[in-house]
Amino acid sequence: MNHGISDQEWNDYIDGIATADVSARIQSHCAVCTECWEFYDQMSCSTLLLQDAAGDARRGFTLDSSHLDHLLTNVLAAIRSGEGGSFDPVHVKGRLDMLETVFAPFCGSQAAARALQSAAAQSRARTIEQITEDNWEPFMERLTAIAAAMVGDTFANLVWERGRL
Ligand SMILES: [Zn+2]
Repeated sequence: MNHGISDQEWNDYIDGIATADVSARIQSHCAVCTECWEFYDQMSCSTLLLQDAAGDARRGFTLDSSHLDHLLTNVLAAIRSGEGGSFDPVHVKGRLDMLETVFAPFCGSQAAARALQSAAAQSRARTIEQITEDNWEPFMERLTAIAAAMVGDTFANLVWERGRL
């Protein structure tokens, strides 16, 4: 699906930062194209769910730096033990599981799974199952942006660091 609307334009529109020009073009196209309307509906829905989850996470999340340090220490310890100290080749699936465990203590495992799905949906992979080494980079970019929106830049940097293949 393209219909004259680029991925970047879709992302901007869904994030609410598209120019008036692009917004008008997408809106008038969606009025006549069921496929794009459904795509938009699905995307904005997952974005809303995520904002909800992020809101919940923020409410339950003390922005106290010692508390944050403590959480990060635990997360890093969990990652280290999960990796078992081996130097096995890194597989995409393993990385995904690891990213989910990085997210979970901050926002709950449901929101963590949703964040990964949403990042996949908004990147070239489209679904978690279709993530490969080739489309890993754009997936990680979306996931990092989502992490930043959910719990802030420190956490997003951590996700970005850990997600490097
Ligand atoms: Zn269309």
